[in-house]
Amino acid sequence: VKIINASYEVIYAPTDVLERIELAARTCYKSEDDIAPGTASKMVHMLRDRGHFAMFDHVSASVRFVVDRGVSHELVRHRIAAYAQESTRYCNYSKGKFGGELTFISPCFWGRGSFMRDTWVEAMLNCESLYLTMVHNGASPQEARSVLPNSLKTEIVATLDFTAWRHVFRLRTSKAAHPQMREVMVPLLADFTQRWPEVFNDIKAE
Ligand SMILES: Cc1cc2nc3c(=O)[nH]c(=O)nc-3n(C[C@H](O)[C@H](O)[C@H](O)COP(=O)(O)OP(=O)(O)OC[C@H]3O[C@@H](n4cnc5c(N)ncnc54)[C@H](O)[C@@H]3O)c2cc1C
Repeated sequence: VKIINASYEVIYAPTDVLERIELAARTCYKSEDDIAPGTASKMVHMLRDRGHFAMFDHVSASVRFVVDRGVSHELVRHRIAAYAQESTRYCNYSKGKFGGELTFISPCFWGRGSFMRDTWVEAMLNCESLYLTMVHNGASPQEARSVLPNSLKTEIVATLDFTAWRHVFRLRTSKAAHPQMREVMVPLLADFTQRWPEVFNDIKAE
């Protein structure tokens, strides 16, 4: 059994975000001739202040999340997005490329050595043992997955436009969001804010 922490990686991020938003927005006003050094940043601030977020639909970024299946299930409820996710139908975790073992995401809310964490580890060991026993006795991965828990590690690539990312950050960095969702979304928002402050620095993680 392998137990890892949740993580994310920004795998595609455009380098000309402000310029692309500006170019789209200036079509509305037919003011493309006013484009000059520094005008893109001002334009994006102006759009944000007026709530003209539709212009942010013209740029998108892709993120690879390494999270558990519970978090990924919540993530895919966001409909304005494209996804690609590791398949428990096609991945056979008994094979060598997976080390013949299952990988689980460590819950961020239980300390090492606590009763809850020890109980959880025991449950993961049992799930792994049952899954491997089933596969070794002829079950297909898509059948044996029936015994796999929410804590199973999954990888999911999500591509969203910046309006949609703003919506996701508002919902998923809130205190009402699940702690394991916040575990990846709070640092991701900080990352996006550092890259593109004009687009994201009005959203504050709770
Ligand atoms: C704290 C929290 C608790 C939750 N608890 C539950 C729960 O107990 N049970 C449950 O089922 N879900 C739950 N959810 C998920 C929630 O119901 C939404 O499915 C999820 O947050 C996706 O967000 P969204 O619907 O705003 O829109 P997204 O799919 O992210 O879309 C963004 C926006 O686009 C617009 N939009 C998208 N699709 C359409 C459409 N077809 N027609 C018109 N407008 C559209 C809407 O304005 C929407 O807000 C929870 C979410 C959160 C954050």
